[in-house]
Amino acid sequence: MGKKIYIKTEEEIELIRKSDLLVSKTLSLMGEMLKPGISGRALDKKAEELIRDNGGIPSFKGYQGFPAALCISVNDAVVHGIPSKVEIKNGDIVSIDCGVFMNGFHGDAAYTFAVGDVDEETMDLLRATNKSLYLGIEQAIAGKRVGDIGYAIQKYTEKTLGYGVVRELVGHGVGKDLHEDPEVPNFGKRGRGPVLKEGMTIAIEPMVNMGTKRVRVLRDGWTIVTRDRKPSAHYEHSVVIRKKKAELLSNHEIVEESIKNNVNIKQL
Ligand code: MG
Ligand code: MG
Repeated sequence: MGKKIYIKTEEEIELIRKSDLLVSKTLSLMGEMLKPGISGRALDKKAEELIRDNGGIPSFKGYQGFPAALCISVNDAVVHGIPSKVEIKNGDIVSIDCGVFMNGFHGDAAYTFAVGDVDEETMDLLRATNKSLYLGIEQAIAGKRVGDIGYAIQKYTEKTLGYGVVRELVGHGVGKDLHEDPEVPNFGKRGRGPVLKEGMTIAIEPMVNMGTKRVRVLRDGWTIVTRDRKPSAHYEHSVVIRKKKAELLSNHEIVEESIKNNVNIKQL
């Protein structure tokens, strides 16, 4: 990552929005396909087809050697799970992270799906993590600072509810590069960090663990899992900073629409 924070023109923002729309359509397709018995690899194959058929390139494939289009992280996997032949089971939570590169710009978003009979304790974690994403987005206004976002997420999930906020992985600027400055941690202090300016595009992505905040990397070199093997949730939006309210560039509504129509997925 460089030191420079790029302010995007309206034309560039529209291109990022297009990439994010394809990301969102891909996540929506995952919401249609997910069911017990399907493998991560089958999901990844369809996702890559949709992305390429629409003129995009999967941002993650080949990124630092990552082998797939999607990160699929199940249950105690936080992020960066590699799609495999292992079948999704009834009661699993499945975090799917997707990036698309198109017209020179990346889009990036993620959603955690509850497959079948997920217990209420885990559903509460999903609801809280999803809510914290929007609490973070509320703070993403021109003139505020990056620390205001992290503070809002951490205060709700960790201080109020007692969950663990992952420290090792953070949100980020997004644009010509998948990961640009600034880093956008899901923890922090109010009034600290870089000032948010109109036209900055950032990915906000709380990663929240039911138990300990501590994580480790599996032997595959990618998958981040919780140290206590308790579940973890992850929701991500790309947004553009505006004067009064951040504007969403990715779209979870179409993802939630497909969940509504899929009896195999529990709504939040
Ligand atoms: Mg992502
Ligand atoms: Mg991201």
